[in-house]
Amino acid sequence: METSHLLDIAGTYGAPVYVYDAEKISSQYRKLTQAFRQVDHLRLNYAAKALSNLSILRLMNHLGSGLDTVSIQEVKLGLLAGFAPESIIYTPNGVSLEEIEEAAALGVQINIDNLSVLEQFGNKHPDIPVCIRINPHVMAGGNSNISVGHIDSKFGISIHQIPHLLRIVELTKMNINGIHMHTGSDILDIDVFLYASEILFDTAKHFPDLEFIDFGSGFKVPYRQGDIQTNVEELGKKLSLRFNAFCEEYGKSLTLAFEPGKFLVSEAGYFLTKVNVVKQTTSTVFAQVDSGFNHLIRPMLYGSQHEILNISNPKGRERYYSVVGYICETDTFGSNRRISEIAEGDILAFRNAGAYCYTMSSNYNSRYRPAEVLWYQGKAHLIRERETFDDILRNQIDTSTLFETAPKSLTEK
Ligand SMILES: *Cc1c(COP(=O)(O)O)cnc(C)c1O
Repeated sequence: METSHLLDIAGTYGAPVYVYDAEKISSQYRKLTQAFRQVDHLRLNYAAKALSNLSILRLMNHLGSGLDTVSIQEVKLGLLAGFAPESIIYTPNGVSLEEIEEAAALGVQINIDNLSVLEQFGNKHPDIPVCIRINPHVMAGGNSNISVGHIDSKFGISIHQIPHLLRIVELTKMNINGIHMHTGSDILDIDVFLYASEILFDTAKHFPDLEFIDFGSGFKVPYRQGDIQTNVEELGKKLSLRFNAFCEEYGKSLTLAFEPGKFLVSEAGYFLTKVNVVKQTTSTVFAQVDSGFNHLIRPMLYGSQHEILNISNPKGRERYYSVVGYICETDTFGSNRRISEIAEGDILAFRNAGAYCYTMSSNYNSRYRPAEVLWYQGKAHLIRERETFDDILRNQIDTSTLFETAPKSLTEK
């Protein structure tokens, strides 16, 4: 979609607003399926937590994707969006047995990542097939926040606990139909990923009734020019070859599954904000927008660098700005960025705003969450309204009668 479309959307729906380009989501989906064309049974389960608007989930379902969910609420959203229960996988961490049972009762694929719950679930429901999340203890790059495969991670069942795991499966007679790993959010190095996959194949050999092997996600997308991105074509070639060889050895054509979040939606998203104030200090020129980490927390939480464009003046002379928000905290989106000259009232577009942006937003400072718009087949569709004051009050109990009598004065005590 073009810059002028974004500007029109900001004009129609106001700022701040999130915009998602459906065509970019579709092309990313196609790119990934194409890369694994040599595999007989491929399954992409879109990771709902990246962007969970119902309309996005419907689009994913329409593309043929399955859904990866991490909470019972995401499972319910997926079902509402039209996913068949069997095309939803539920991969929680640290949730109660009750929540897992609730998901199982809805008919979705259960993925268990600790021995305690595995044993309890297996004892109570030996007939419900279960996938197991393995921790191969491989760091596939990224920083300590996002590499979850290492030794101290809370995710997955350690490969060093396989003997214990096998005893539980034997005693409960449960049916393990899938093996899963998710090594982290950034696959920097295909060879590291392939190395982790070997551990998964080794583990898989212990389970005779598998239907699928799920390699999780971690596809890296570029945020700035020159950023590394996962070469999915190369990964596709190498892993497909290895996977097919494994299936031969295993004696069954298994499904190869992935759970991409960021890869499918990050680059499809734009966050549009309006510049309230241009503020010159002794050292910096600040552009203050009508947003903050209440709407987009990734720069402050992960240090992610979202490219920022002035779409109101795209051809203007470039100057240096620090783009900050209006929250009463330090909420720097970008320091000393070169952006075409900014005037108050201009619309700034943040790129890569599809994944983990709206879903991480809050009402901090009692601000409204933004609206969301889907750009689909050349038209803008509002898919979530901006919040209103009623949303701020929702669930708050009116306690005004508690305070009807005058407060005890301090001297009375
Ligand atoms: C978050 C998550 C994903 C998606 O990761 P991305 O980096 O967004 O692709 C996949 N699988 C699991 C289990 C997750 O928790």
